[in-house]
Amino acid sequence: MEFDELDAHALITTLHAGVVVHNPDTSVAYANPKALEILHLTEAQILGRDALDPLWQLLDGDKVPLSVEDYPVNRVLLTRNPVSNQEIGVIDGETTAITWVLVNAYPELNRGGQISKIVVTFIDITANKSEIPFEASLNSLSQQITVIDGTGLIQWVNDAWKGFSQENGAPSDEAWLYANYLSVCKAGSYVGDNDSSDAMSGIQSVMNGEATEFYFEYPCHSPTEQRWFMMRIRPLEWNGPYHYVISHENITERKLAEIKLEELATTDGLTGIPNRRYFDDFLEKEWLRARRLSQPVSLVLLDIDFFKPFNDNYGHVAGDKCLQQVGEALKDILHRPDDLVARYGGEEFAIILGNTDLEAAYQIAEKTRISIQALNIPHAYAKEAGCITISAGVSSISPNRNSSKQPNTLLKAADKNLYIAKEKGRNQVVAFTP
Ligand code: GH3
Ligand code: MG
Ligand code: MG
Repeated sequence: MEFDELDAHALITTLHAGVVVHNPDTSVAYANPKALEILHLTEAQILGRDALDPLWQLLDGDKVPLSVEDYPVNRVLLTRNPVSNQEIGVIDGETTAITWVLVNAYPELNRGGQISKIVVTFIDITANKSEIPFEASLNSLSQQITVIDGTGLIQWVNDAWKGFSQENGAPSDEAWLYANYLSVCKAGSYVGDNDSSDAMSGIQSVMNGEATEFYFEYPCHSPTEQRWFMMRIRPLEWNGPYHYVISHENITERKLAEIKLEELATTDGLTGIPNRRYFDDFLEKEWLRARRLSQPVSLVLLDIDFFKPFNDNYGHVAGDKCLQQVGEALKDILHRPDDLVARYGGEEFAIILGNTDLEAAYQIAEKTRISIQALNIPHAYAKEAGCITISAGVSSISPNRNSSKQPNTLLKAADKNLYIAKEKGRNQVVAFTP
């Protein structure tokens, strides 16, 4: 097929590439419809204009204005050679956005071998070139993000960070600029803030290259509300000097849910006092503490007397109510933070008494026994007493560093004494060290 057989005008007006034909003085002789569309110009606006027209501005790949000799038209004029695949950004009179085009150009020569026209063709590659605005992306996050350099100096913060520091008393939007993140942590650790020193050593482990990430959760309560935050630091992955990205996020909602769940898991549903699980943990900790401080720790095991006949005669609902009343009464007796009252199981309760010897523990158990009797919960089937009573077994140990004794020893001894109290007729306390 001969090319002459084609309708060149039809081809060029329907072509999906822009075609602009320049005269040797660079003025525009022709522009096809696609060129007008890409450049946001009308025919009247473009015809006769030269390549340097202020209606548009050309940029190189780094968005730096293109020097005149690098304009495709001028490159062809200067070198007489075609230009292929030059990436150019165009800012036209209509929008401030950059339209990116991939440009080709070639000279048309006349019979004398002189350049008579320069044909420039281009396609729109804006969609391929468009960059995601990373700063805007980071600013749309609710996490507070900062970038620090290797000395801890804050280099950049996102909007959430600025907002947070202002809410928390920073004098201005820019206050962060003068801050050194590490100095703030250091100041905290000097005044004995454990969280600050933990954060400090974690950050240093990342900066030393010992860890690739440090994650940390910490409380940060304000006078009006309980708050928790998380902090994460990672090295910034780029080719520049060492920088680190730190993010903070308010995790109060999750923490409160966790606390609630923990409470539910460690509280007895009927009486509202700690359950056996909590008791076991508490005893373990109290035991270790007592061993560290060479102090005695005591235990009282209480069991309601004749509770089976109580249930059998008054019903299970009355039995439950009785357990609740006993639980309340026990709670009222003990107030020290080192003490704990728990429901040990069924109709048994347990009291842990930190830094308390056997004699003092006996006194407390006896006081408890009297208080329960004083509740005067009628129990016609409890042999003599006529009301609900308890029996108690007490034990006390000063855990010794060199001894292999476990908290279980304390439990066994108290249980044995409780058994003796029952044997001896109930409604009494037995504190006896074999
Ligand atoms: P003792 O004086 O020797 O302690 O006799 P007791 O009847 O109290 O002891 P026993 O172990 O024979 O019975 C305990 C009863 O406690 C059996 C059970 O029905 C009752 N009980 C245990 N847990 C609950 C509870 O959660 N609610 C109610 N209502 N009763 C319970
Ligand atoms: Mg029992
Ligand atoms: Mg009982």
